Amino acid sequence: MYWKSVVAITTLAAAVQAVEKKAASSAAKSSSAAPKSTAAAAAPSTPSSATNPLAITIPSIPQTTSYDPTVECQSYTVPGLTIDPKEWPTIWETATSNGMNTSAEFTQLYNSIDWTKAPAAPVRKATAAGGLDFAGYDANNDPDCWWSSSLCTIPKAKDVNADIYRCEEPETWGLTYDDGPNCSHNAFMDFLQQQNLKASMFYIGSNVLDWPYGAMRGLKDGHHIADHTWSHQLMTTLTNQEVLAELYYTQKAIKLVTGVTPKYWRPAFGDVDDRVRYIATQLNLTAVIWNLDTDDWAAGNSVPENTVEQTYQDFITMGTNGTFATSGNIVLTHEIDNTTMALAMKYLPQIKQAYKNVLDVATCNNITQPYMESAVTVTPFGAANASTSAGAAASGASGASGVAPAASGSAAPSSSAKSGASSLTAPASLLALVALAVFAQ
Ligand SMILES: [Zn+2]
Repeated sequence: MYWKSVVAITTLAAAVQAVEKKAASSAAKSSSAAPKSTAAAAAPSTPSSATNPLAITIPSIPQTTSYDPTVECQSYTVPGLTIDPKEWPTIWETATSNGMNTSAEFTQLYNSIDWTKAPAAPVRKATAAGGLDFAGYDANNDPDCWWSSSLCTIPKAKDVNADIYRCEEPETWGLTYDDGPNCSHNAFMDFLQQQNLKASMFYIGSNVLDWPYGAMRGLKDGHHIADHTWSHQLMTTLTNQEVLAELYYTQKAIKLVTGVTPKYWRPAFGDVDDRVRYIATQLNLTAVIWNLDTDDWAAGNSVPENTVEQTYQDFITMGTNGTFATSGNIVLTHEIDNTTMALAMKYLPQIKQAYKNVLDVATCNNITQPYMESAVTVTPFGAANASTSAGAAASGASGASGVAPAASGSAAPSSSAKSGASSLTAPASLLALVALAVFAQ
């Protein structure tokens, strides 16, 4: 089903990318204060689940041993994992589909939220081309902290989690892969394992149910698993109910398959404003954006592959030219297809040589509990830093043959400011409700 993701991105992202370029000049402005997350407290209790996140086993079947996508991308069922279609939205449709919007489970969740406190930002409109319609929005004052318009990451509204958009640790590459799990995951996951690399994996709920072994392997290998919505739409164009369902059913899918419930998420195309952030906050979710975008999803599609390769080389140069001397980056890359994964495998050895640290977003921001289940933790930065350095040294000999980085690194989003905008914790009663709903599998 991953091609649908590609189609959606192809049709929607052009306008968004244009917006990003238009807004790029305000990047430095919006990054002047770092919304460092302190990770909200974990849920008070974690009811039983069919999957033990600390003891995931993946059997040796063709889907998990072959590197051939035509073999791996055959649908399969996971023994012991029951997916009752009546409990889930339709795959790749808005998450209120299949009657979810009127289900007892979702109705209880929706009604537990105090909507009187939700920011009054309107539901945005999409253009005929599938992009965002900015007509009528006060871009200068940016009252709704709408990232798509301004790259704003620090909410204007109260009681809303601020976004994370960079690694706080200097000289650090924040490694993130979106739109997985991919059906043909083994070569890429093996590579990350061999390189001793951990990434933040932003999973689409529909993909998690389609390719559960990919998600299971992500958690089993120690990657940071996060929520990337159910059907990958522009979130500000969805109603409150739809936004809630997109986030909630992805948390639920990840919980069902891996045994953990993410506390971090990434909006498709970065499209988030304070209304959407408020809803995410009710689910104990904090948004993770980025400050470098490889556009790797477009390689071989809307842009030549060598354009993306040049971008990789420019970003590698930034690791040694002082761009990230005072704080690190978070780089947007994708699992989407074999092209994007092959690009990652080609350049990661060079990235490791150019940067002091290459880490998932949780580790680089010292977030040790990125899930509602407190038993599953991420290695603290110091320990991860030590092991990654060792891995980087060991990988030197086996790295891809040297492609000289270009000398024209441009965008410099670095800032010395480090503020402590803290994550908010969702009300305990709501967390309990979410936990009950999510864990009652
Ligand atoms: Zn995406």
